[in-house]
Amino acid sequence: MRKDKDTLWKEACHHLEATLPKDIFEKWIAVIQCRSIEENTVILVVGNDFYQSWLEEHYIPLIRTALAVVSGREMRIDLTVDYSLIAELPEEKKEKAPSSPATKKPAETNLNKNYTFDAFVVGPSNQFAHAASIAAAQAPARTYNPLFIHGDVGLGKTHLMQAIGNFMHSKSSRGSVCCTNCESFVNEYIEALTTRSLSKFRKKYRTVDALLIDDIHFLAGKDQMQEEFFHTFNAIFENHKQIVMTSDRPAGELAGLAPRLVSRFEWGLVVELESPDVETRVAILRKKCEQLNLTIEQSLLFYIAERISSNIRRLEGALIRVASYVSLTGLKMDRTKLEYLLRDTLDQERKHAISIEGIQKAVAEHFEIRLGDLVGPKRPQNIAWPRQIAMYLSRTMTGQSFPVIGDAFSRNHATIVHACQLVERRQNEDMKLKHTLSLLRQRVSHNSQKAGQEQ
Ligand code: ADP
Ligand code: MG
Repeated sequence: MRKDKDTLWKEACHHLEATLPKDIFEKWIAVIQCRSIEENTVILVVGNDFYQSWLEEHYIPLIRTALAVVSGREMRIDLTVDYSLIAELPEEKKEKAPSSPATKKPAETNLNKNYTFDAFVVGPSNQFAHAASIAAAQAPARTYNPLFIHGDVGLGKTHLMQAIGNFMHSKSSRGSVCCTNCESFVNEYIEALTTRSLSKFRKKYRTVDALLIDDIHFLAGKDQMQEEFFHTFNAIFENHKQIVMTSDRPAGELAGLAPRLVSRFEWGLVVELESPDVETRVAILRKKCEQLNLTIEQSLLFYIAERISSNIRRLEGALIRVASYVSLTGLKMDRTKLEYLLRDTLDQERKHAISIEGIQKAVAEHFEIRLGDLVGPKRPQNIAWPRQIAMYLSRTMTGQSFPVIGDAFSRNHATIVHACQLVERRQNEDMKLKHTLSLLRQRVSHNSQKAGQEQ
């Protein structure tokens, strides 16, 4: 029997409460009403269009995942506005409407205990970021300050940052660790402005022993907030305390971020989380199976890992779906059931899949050479280097095996291995190359997403 709307929504909220920082949950999710469920569409209602656009921009995918997990099927979400809703809210919540954001609980409560170093699987895509995080956690402000972690969505930025926080927190002698996300920081600042308690706000943030701030890209385009954060940053830095930030892009590529902030963000160490290769993805799935107490055949784990490559959160979502199915039905998982259960995710993944061909095209365009030359047998010097870059990106972005990449370039396996090693080594010494690679990655992801939407 299917769950009624209230049960379903309550369970989904439960799930979301466990995933989101408490204040974010209260401010953005607790205000939503579930009005009805029609077929596979959940009708959600909020009190004004500000909530609507904000939720659509930021939280709909999360809500959809939560609903899928608790209902066991994919649900569409229809989010509408009902202006009478605000009037229906209890007094306490009315105050929390957007004009006056919710107050944040003490920073420590934002630490998610599950995000530890132990639970983080290390592979070539995150080795450097992981090592830097451990160093910063063990010797705050003495090694890399600030530590700036960037990477695409779902690649483990929050997990790593929280792991640093949990580690520091467990050493109580380390003093106060403030772990927050940029959105909460902004909300709290606005609240402090409206309640005239700026000095309290400043004291709280400027005297911490470590400030870990997630999703700093949220500051882009917000001039006044940048000004405030600039002073927060300086105060902490001058006190010789640790700062850790995460961002979905390198600081220099955040449009609308003041140059003085960009330069500060790059003072310490900048590390990137990249898409994990297939071996790492399998290792992550194994780890999550342990945590979920789930036994699933190796071949099926490989099946999932090979097909879901863009985002670890999605990989995890697929596994949770499998786990829910197994625990609800008591049936053993097999390939047919798996394909059916994950059909929507696999479908999306196929659309968004980054192809070697897409990489070759982007590289050819960037270096203004013909695609045919890039993959052809000729060896002129001006093409050799772009070709090696394309090989390296193919390996790191698609996680395909060396022989498959070799085929795509009409070269043998050893040539690809050599190219990957070469580019890997050079980018550690050559900032310009690092930048070019980052630009190319963005272009490739962007193109593949566009292609996915057009399909
Ligand atoms: P981001 O903040 O970059 O969007 P998250 O840190 O939220 O990504 O990671 C998404 C999910 O993937 C989390 O549940 C996290 O635990 C998991 N995850 C990411 N990287 C790893 C890893 N290396 N090992 C284990 N789990 C990981
Ligand atoms: Mg995150």
